Amino acid sequence: MTIFSNLTSMEHEQLVFCHDKSTGLKAIIAIHDTTLGPALGGCRMWNYETEEDAIQDVLRLSRGMTYKAAITGLNLGGGKSVIIGDPSMKSEALFKVFGRFIDSLNGRYITAEDVNMRVEDMEQVATETPYVSGVSSGSGDPSPITALGVYHGIRASVAHRLGKNDLKGLKIAVQGVGNVGTYLCELLHKDGVELFVADINNDRVANAKDKYGAKSASLDSIHKLDLDVFAPCALGAILNDKTIPELNTPIVAGGANNQLLHEEAHSKMLQELGILYAPDYVINAGGLVNVYQELKGYDEVGVRHQAEKIYHTLTSIYKEAAASGTTTILASNKIAEKRLEQARSIKVLGNGLDNQLWYKPNN
Ligand code: NAD
Repeated sequence: MTIFSNLTSMEHEQLVFCHDKSTGLKAIIAIHDTTLGPALGGCRMWNYETEEDAIQDVLRLSRGMTYKAAITGLNLGGGKSVIIGDPSMKSEALFKVFGRFIDSLNGRYITAEDVNMRVEDMEQVATETPYVSGVSSGSGDPSPITALGVYHGIRASVAHRLGKNDLKGLKIAVQGVGNVGTYLCELLHKDGVELFVADINNDRVANAKDKYGAKSASLDSIHKLDLDVFAPCALGAILNDKTIPELNTPIVAGGANNQLLHEEAHSKMLQELGILYAPDYVINAGGLVNVYQELKGYDEVGVRHQAEKIYHTLTSIYKEAAASGTTTILASNKIAEKRLEQARSIKVLGNGLDNQLWYKPNN
């Protein structure tokens, strides 16, 4: 892999490698685009098989954040970070060092929770830098609002594809019942959905069976079930050459980031099979809305209202995709890119030489 060719093809601004021998910290921060504001995106802790896997993941995730903020109408750029390693290596010192690296970027990147990162971990990061959101003194865990947005996104997808205005009696499979997946099960259960779940963690499956009457499915069969909606809520790249032909559902709509292994090819494959795909970064934007509000002064009612708006954002994307014959994610990308282009083209007005030199003559 050549790093700069990746940065060029995905249009990233900056990739930061962080290392600390004493704590064992190996982290990567990716800043994709800061046109609309500071790059905000969660930190994922994962034991990647190779360093290349970690780089690819952080590049893809950070790009997704740019598009997510743009389509959701937030004034934020896109960024993400990964800490390479197992959650067993968590320590106060490790998170403090990570916080110092974030602080060195002076606000260009703001972090939050993602897979395997908890509010307590972020609070340790926050002892070293103010550029942290999702701490308990602020908006806290974003997962309930992410799940709420996914729930409204599922409603929009069902209305568009199946012509139904409620979810009662529908069969929905949730792959991954961690933070987002479990809150989603709670909402779907209240609506009378027949739930199926799978997770590598048996306790979480047992919890979903106990509380929400879910039936368990094996890890490699959950996506093959006869369903109305398949909701991936674990890790990315679940929609690929192998799994897509095995799907038996008219809708894929879930909270996981980067569900398509290859955005263009695999969104086309879904389209050709008549499967409606809810673009991941649109349907799971509730968490970003939550942390954005934290930066502006938290208002819970406003946050819930914005998460509900995901219903309308997705409906417009579906209509646009149907009208232009393109895939839903490509239609969504186009809308997001238009907002970014407009922001870039806004003229910068000079404010007096003393205040800001936006052009320095070379003499
Ligand atoms: P989490 O770590 O709490 O949950 C992930 C769950 O997936 C865990 O229970 C894990 O055991 C399970 N899992 C891992 N591999 C699996 C596999 N192969 N099959 C089935 N289950 C598997 O993380 P989360 O915060 O719930 O996030 C889930 C997804 O949603 C991630 O892709 C994340 O990037 C995305 N997301 C989360 C938020 C948020 O607010 N937390 C916001 C936007 C997007």
